[in-house]
Parts: sequence; structure tokens; C-alpha cells
Amino acid sequence: MAAEWTNWAGDQRCLPARIETPSGRAELIEAVARATAEGLTVRAVGHGHSFTDVACTGGVLLDMRRLSRVLDVDREAGLVKVESGIGLRPLNETIWGHGLALENLGDIDKQTISGAVSTGTHGTGSRFRNFSSQVEALELVLADGTLHEVSAADPDQLRAARIAMGSLGVIATVTLRTIPSFSIRRLDSPLPLDETLSRLDDLADGSDHFEFYAFPHTRTALLRQSERTDEEPRPRNPVTRFANDVVAENWVMGGIARLGRSFPRRIPALARFVSERVGRTTTLDRSYRVYASQRRIRFTEMEYAIPRRHAREAVSAVLDAAEHADPGVGFPIEVRFVAGDDSMLSPAYERDTTYVAVHQYRGMAWESYFRAVEEIMDPLGGRPHWGKRHFQTAETLAERYPEWEDFKRTRELLDPEASFRNEYLDRVLG
Ligand SMILES: Cc1cc2nc3c(=O)[nH]c(=O)nc-3n(C[C@H](O)[C@H](O)[C@H](O)COP(=O)(O)OP(=O)(O)OC[C@H]3O[C@@H](n4cnc5c(N)ncnc54)[C@H](O)[C@@H]3O)c2cc1C
Repeated sequence: MAAEWTNWAGDQRCLPARIETPSGRAELIEAVARATAEGLTVRAVGHGHSFTDVACTGGVLLDMRRLSRVLDVDREAGLVKVESGIGLRPLNETIWGHGLALENLGDIDKQTISGAVSTGTHGTGSRFRNFSSQVEALELVLADGTLHEVSAADPDQLRAARIAMGSLGVIATVTLRTIPSFSIRRLDSPLPLDETLSRLDDLADGSDHFEFYAFPHTRTALLRQSERTDEEPRPRNPVTRFANDVVAENWVMGGIARLGRSFPRRIPALARFVSERVGRTTTLDRSYRVYASQRRIRFTEMEYAIPRRHAREAVSAVLDAAEHADPGVGFPIEVRFVAGDDSMLSPAYERDTTYVAVHQYRGMAWESYFRAVEEIMDPLGGRPHWGKRHFQTAETLAERYPEWEDFKRTRELLDPEASFRNEYLDRVLG
């Protein structure tokens, strides 16, 4: 029976012809071949943590989460092969047991590996590239059920397949390059926003991982500076951790977001209240535990990748847009830095990049604010995060990706009948 599918934020819904949950490679191949033989399109979905309709379909939706085994760990080479639906948290925990870790991570670890890779998920750190750069090989199930290996043997195809939003086929396995496990020491501390912006390059390059949150209606930034270290992890006890991360980051923010939704005019005062209470905290723990936090309040998000040299003007303009938004915005703006990479559809393609993210609480109007932010990003050559809201189309995007036509050729070769298309891909890829 047809069942509705909804994303994490609860604001993207679709009614697939059916939802299947393959638990092994043979079942996956069979599911894809059966769907296309019936003339149905196919989309794979991971944990549904994208804010766009990128995974939606009226065809067959393959929920990949039962394909979750670690298949091979080559500690010497640092190569780890996994089934594509494994969650980042279990993946990190398993490879930690082998003395290995992923080079970098985003700010949660709920995603599947294939979902994270497919939309160009990133963390922060001006020397580190986004997630998909760690992919050494992929096995793709093509529309007719053929299993197709993508690897460095065809480097251009690999650069196309690393970030493809499921448009080339269904990823069955992913081989990742990992590095020896390491700890992270993180310092969170407030700094006046003007000082943060004037010292931005030094701050971005002065830590292994640097990011900051800028609170609209205040002149305060919360800085997050992390160093990689060989020191033994000193995890906080679970109660302190729960109090700080879950209560402070989610329930307090959630409470404020809800108050802001009911009393939008109070948002500036609420933002000042929160920013004045931001203190200094340090954390020293396993890398993957420090990178990821828990997000219990639901929101929607837009994020743009811009050349790093435009970071200051972009942040100032976005803050101005947030302060003039109607309804108001209680969420801070999140600013991160990554190194350029060479995946054809990477938002950080061949440029040192600053990511600027804006959020709105679930149930509050977001569109006019996000459109205002997009107008700031367009003249700066902004490229949207593929899993976060934006209003671009293939026409507006093509010129922002120097290898756009090469990607299209790869898609025509691997999926000539467009069996993996959906409305989102029609809009953004044409
Ligand atoms: C609270 C929260 C925090 C976030 N933090 C960050 C962050 O720090 N950095 C960042 O960059 N992003 C972040 N994101 C965005 C998120 O990382 C991406 O949207 C990611 O794609 C979600 O992974 P998923 O497993 O949920 O994939 P889904 O959203 O389920 O799918 C994403 C895409 O991958 C495709 N796909 C999934 N599995 C396969 C497969 N096996 N084969 C082919 N295609 C497949 C889907 O078709 C779809 O196109 C965050 C999102 C949320 C909700």
C-alpha cells in the first residue's frame, strides 16, 4: 500500500508508488530492475535529513537504511568499504575500534554515508575538503540492475559520481579513505562581531576547525575553535553532556524559538538575552563526538557556498536581512570554512569556500527571508547546498559549475532514460 514519506524537518512530503527497504545487494538490484521494468522512476533515500525535495518521488522510493554493514577495513591503507545506508554514527564508532576516523564531519551524525556524500555535506576547517572528497570508490546500481564500479580508474567519472544527488544510480557501497583516529579539543567562546569579522582570515586559518555563529540584533559572535590532538579523550559525564548539549543547545533554543514564533516582536530582545549568556566551554573527546551535536528542535535551512574573499560582506548583508525579516529570525547565522575540491557539482568546486547558513523555526514563514539571502549570494557567485532550500534552476546554476556539461554527459551515459529523475533534479539539473 502506498505510504507517505516525510523528511526530518516534516516539510517535504511525497506519496511514492511504493517504498522498499532492501537489506542486501541482491535485493537492491532486484528492486531497481523491477521498478524500471514497470516504467517507474527510482529514488534512494537515507535518513531524510535534506531540507529540499531532493529525495522525493512518485515512483519507487528505496529506503537504504537496512544496507548498513561495514564490509571491509584495510587499516594499513586506511580504506573502509561500507554499505551505503550505514549511519555516520555507527560508521564512526566501528572504525574508531580499528584506530581510524573520518577526516572531517558536519555538525550532526544522523545522516547515512550515501546521503551525506550525495549532497556535498561538509564540516568546517579551511584545510579540509567536504565529505565526498573522502570517497575513493562507489558501486552504483544502474537502471537495468547492472552493478557499475566507479573508481580512480576513471577519475572524471569518480569526480562526477561523488556528488550526484542520486541522479546516476543507486549507490550500493562506498569506499572511504580514512585517517588514524584523533581527538579534538574545542573551545567555544564569545567575541564581538566586529572583531570577529576584522580578524576573519586569521581566525579561519588559526585553528584546524573554525566556525562562528552570529546572532541577529546583537553585536556578538559565538566562536568555535577546534584543534586536532593526540591527547586522551576526556568525555564529559553523560549528565553534564546532556545538560550542556541537549538542554542548552536545544531546549533553550527551542523555547526561545517558540516564544519568538508566538511573539515575533520580542525576537531582538530574546536574541540579546541568549547572546549575553554565551560563555566559554572546552571539550576534549573523540573527533566524531566533538564534531557532532544533537539537534532536537526542528527547523528549515538554506546554505550558500561563496568564495572566501566575500565572507565579510556576505555575513554583514545576511545579518541585515535577518534583522529586517518579517517574521523575525531567532536563529543565529552559521559560518564555516572549507578548502576547495574537484567534484564536478561540489559547491566548493575549486575555490576556498565560506559557507553561510540561515535557519527558520518550523512553522514560521521562511520564504521571503531566504529569498533575500539568495539575492545577496547570487552576485557573489553563490552555489547552494544541494540538500538545503534554494530557488535556483539549471539555467541559473549551469554557469556556476565549470564542469556542468561534463556532469551532464556522465549522467546521459549512466542513466540514459533518466530513470532516477524527480522534480527537484528536473529543476536543478534540467
Ligand atoms: C539537523 C541537520 C544538520 C545538518 N548539518 C549539516 C552539516 O553540518 N553540513 C552539511 O553540509 N549538511 C548538513 N545537513 C544536511 C545533510 O547533511 C544533507 O542533507 C544530507 O544529504 C542528509 O543525509 P541523509 O542520509 O538524510 O540523506 P537524504 O536526505 O535521505 O538524501 C539526500 C540525497 O542523497 C540521495 N541518496 C541517499 N542515499 C542514496 C543512495 N544509496 N544512492 C543514491 N543516492 C542516494 C537521495 O536520493 C537524495 O538525493 C544537516 C541537516 C540537518 C537536518
